[in-house]
Amino acid sequence: MKKFGIAIHGGAGVMSRRLMTDDKEKKYTRALSEALKAGHEILKEGGTALDAVTVAVCSLEDQEMFNAGRGAVFNHEGRHEMDASIMNGANLMAGAVSAVHNIRNPVLLAREVMLHSEHVMMCGQGAEEFARERQLVFEDDTYFFTRHRFEQWQRALKKELMQLDDGSTKKFGTVGAVALDAEGNLAAATSTGGLTNKRFGRIGDSPIIGAGTYANNETCAVSCTGHGEYFIRSVVAFDIHALMLYKKWSLKQASEKVVMKKLVKMKAEGGIIAIDRKGNICMPFNSEGMYRGMWSGTGKPEIMIY
Ligand code: ASP
Repeated sequence: MKKFGIAIHGGAGVMSRRLMTDDKEKKYTRALSEALKAGHEILKEGGTALDAVTVAVCSLEDQEMFNAGRGAVFNHEGRHEMDASIMNGANLMAGAVSAVHNIRNPVLLAREVMLHSEHVMMCGQGAEEFARERQLVFEDDTYFFTRHRFEQWQRALKKELMQLDDGSTKKFGTVGAVALDAEGNLAAATSTGGLTNKRFGRIGDSPIIGAGTYANNETCAVSCTGHGEYFIRSVVAFDIHALMLYKKWSLKQASEKVVMKKLVKMKAEGGIIAIDRKGNICMPFNSEGMYRGMWSGTGKPEIMIY
């Protein structure tokens, strides 16, 4: 069997060790491990990178501590407006949804758009109607209500701020996964609730192919987390691919140039996870921490925060 591997993230930001309790750290580590294991299992059994990233992102969307699916933040209107995307590096097919409500797993809807529509991106009501046609699971608002997100939103409302997930710790919580399967195919997926107290209709980088997500068998698969507006303007995921393709840079050179030099120069905070066609994994971030995990082939899983 050829080399395979997977990497996941649960968002980047300022994760102060001072504010992190043992309990909290265990909770995050457990959730990341579960998602990593679910994706790795698929690859180990000879499944596709596309299925591996789908399953890993669904698992993270189902956890209330990440800003995606169940744990999605509140927008200015007090709603959960979610974005997600997925891309198959084997055929450059992609699917994305933005500003969708009440969908349990937005990444599954992005996948449906890719596989069962003639489009790449659908938003709002139209995407929700398509979700009904495809019989995706909807949840009512109570499913997405979490006390700490509500309090974050209330704090942000008071300060009239648009916050990056959590103003007190400046933590992003978007989730994503990238994988290489034994057939040599790459895939990437990203899912988010966006920014706390964002204007309704605001769309970040996560559902934008080339900005928050990109996969191409010729180079790499990338999923981003950070301040979306900057990531869109920097076309982050595609830029890493392009540096590898046109300049023949390694994944490490390309991803570090983009995250540690270009984004830093713009004062844009965040990070990325990426895997190349040889199975090399890079996870640079320019913030204090990034919830992340990787599992290469038959090696051991690794979970890291700082
Ligand atoms: N990139 C996401 C956005 O701007 C936020 C995040 O990574 O947490 O919507």
